[in-house]
Formats: sequence, C-alpha cells, structure tokens
Amino acid sequence: MGKNGCIKCGHTEAKTKEIATTGTGLSSLDVQHNHFTVVYCTSCGYSELYRGSNIIDLFFGG
Ligand SMILES: [Zn+2]
Repeated sequence: MGKNGCIKCGHTEAKTKEIATTGTGLSSLDVQHNHFTVVYCTSCGYSELYRGSNIIDLFFGG
C-alpha cells in the first residue's frame, strides 16, 4: 500500500512535531493526556494532529 500524499497538494514528505496543549487550570496528569503530535506537509504546510503510532501513514491516508 503506497502513500497517497498530502490531501491538499499531493506532496509526499511530511515532518512531525510533538506538542502539548495547555489546558485551563488542568493538573499535570491532564497535560500529559493532552500530548499530541502534529504532522505537517513540508510543501504547503497543511497539518493535522494525531496521537499514537504510524501517524505519518495516517496523515497520508495510508
Ligand atoms: Zn501539502
């Protein structure tokens, strides 16, 4: 199963960046719970948030 590429521009290269959302008055446990990885297209910048593994495959619709 091949990658489909970015759903916006068709580019097939993406990068990931881990982020942690800062909630409103949440405990440290909640901060851990709100940890995501953003996958973004290196061409057009389109991005989606994911949690878990194989996120680049998810980004490309794999
Ligand atoms: Zn793109």
